[in-house]
Amino acid sequence: MIGLWETVRKGLMMDLDRSFKDIRGEIRFEESMAKHTSWGVGGPADCWFVPEDKMDLAAFLTALPEDMPLLWTGLGSNLLIRDGGVRGVVICTYRGLSSIKITPIGEVEAEAGVTCAKIAKFCSRAGLSGSEFLAGIPGTVGGALAMNAGAHGAETWNVVNRAEVLGRDGCLEVRARSQFDVGYRRTSLGQREWFTGVVFGLKKGDPVLVREKIRTVLAHRALSQPIGSANAGSVFQNPIDDHAARLIESAGLKGSRVGGATVSNKHANFIINDRGASASDIEQLILRVQATVFKTFYVQLKTEVHIVGVA
Ligand SMILES: Cc1cc2nc3c(=O)[nH]c(=O)nc-3n(C[C@H](O)[C@H](O)[C@H](O)COP(=O)(O)OP(=O)(O)OC[C@H]3O[C@@H](n4cnc5c(N)ncnc54)[C@H](O)[C@@H]3O)c2cc1C
Repeated sequence: MIGLWETVRKGLMMDLDRSFKDIRGEIRFEESMAKHTSWGVGGPADCWFVPEDKMDLAAFLTALPEDMPLLWTGLGSNLLIRDGGVRGVVICTYRGLSSIKITPIGEVEAEAGVTCAKIAKFCSRAGLSGSEFLAGIPGTVGGALAMNAGAHGAETWNVVNRAEVLGRDGCLEVRARSQFDVGYRRTSLGQREWFTGVVFGLKKGDPVLVREKIRTVLAHRALSQPIGSANAGSVFQNPIDDHAARLIESAGLKGSRVGGATVSNKHANFIINDRGASASDIEQLILRVQATVFKTFYVQLKTEVHIVGVA
C-alpha cells in the first residue's frame, strides 16, 4: 500500500514540476525539513517552495491542484515536524518575501518573510519605538502574526495597523487589525489564507533608548534561556495565572530525557535537541511532560509549538 502511494506521489510531483515552468522561485522535492526548523528535526516535504516575490507566490498557488495540502512556514522556530515529513507542499516565506520600508506617513511595512530581529533593528534605526520585544523572537513576521508572538508584556498584534492576506485563489487583500480576532498565541485566519505582509504603527522614540531596550531584552534572554541550543522556545502555553515552566520544574522534570531530547535545566519550558534527537523523541517527551504535570497538579498543558506532518 505504501509503495502504491509513493508511486502516485512521485507521479503527482513530476506533473507539478511541469506546471511550474513559469515560476521564478526555488522549488525542491523531497526536501528535508530538519534543515528548516530550529529543532533541527523533521522528515522530507514532498515539495518545498521559496517564492521570488508575492506575485510569484500567487502564481505558484494557482498552478497547484485545488486540493494540494499546504503548510506555510517562516523560520520553523515554532514547529515540530514529524519524522515522516510533510505530504503536499511547504511554502517558506523566509528569504522570499523580504522587503521592509517606511510608508509616506511613517508606518513600517514589511513582508511576511522578514525576521522579527530585522524589524526591531530597522525600527530602532528609524527612531521608532514599540517593536523592541521582537528583537529576541527568532522567527519571521508571518509566523509572529500567525502566533501573535509576544514577550516582555508585549504582543505582535498590539503594534499592527493592517495585515495583508493571500488566499488560495491567488488574491491579495489588506485588512485592518480590527478584522482579526486575536488572542494568546493565536490569530483567526481562514483555512485557505495566509499572511504575506504587515503594516506596523509605532511611536516615535529616542534611537538611543530604543537600542538600550533591545540590549536589555537580549540580555534577559541570554540569562534565562538556553541560547545556542537547538530548541523551539516555549513548548507549552502558560495556563491562566500560572507558568508552564514553574509547573514543569515543580514536577521534577528538568533534565528529563527521551533519546536525544531533554527538558532544559535552564528553562523548564524549553526542550532541547542536544544529542541528535528525532521528532519522535521530542514528541514523546512532550507527552511525558503533559502526563506528569497533569498527574501532579491536575493541569492540562497545551502545546504552544505546532505539531505537524506524518510519523
Ligand atoms: C529560542 C526561541 C525563543 C523564542 N521566544 C519566543 C517568545 O519570546 N515569544 C513567542 O511568542 N515565541 C517565541 N518563540 C517561538 C517562535 O519564534 C515564534 O512563535 C515565531 O513567531 C514563529 O515564527 P516562524 O517564522 O519561525 O514560524 P514557523 O515556526 O515557521 O510557523 C509557526 C506557525 O505559523 C504558521 N505560519 C508561518 N508563517 C505563516 C504565514 N506567512 N501565514 C500564516 N501562517 C504562517 C505556520 O504554519 C505555523 O503554524 C521562540 C522560539 C525560539 C527557538
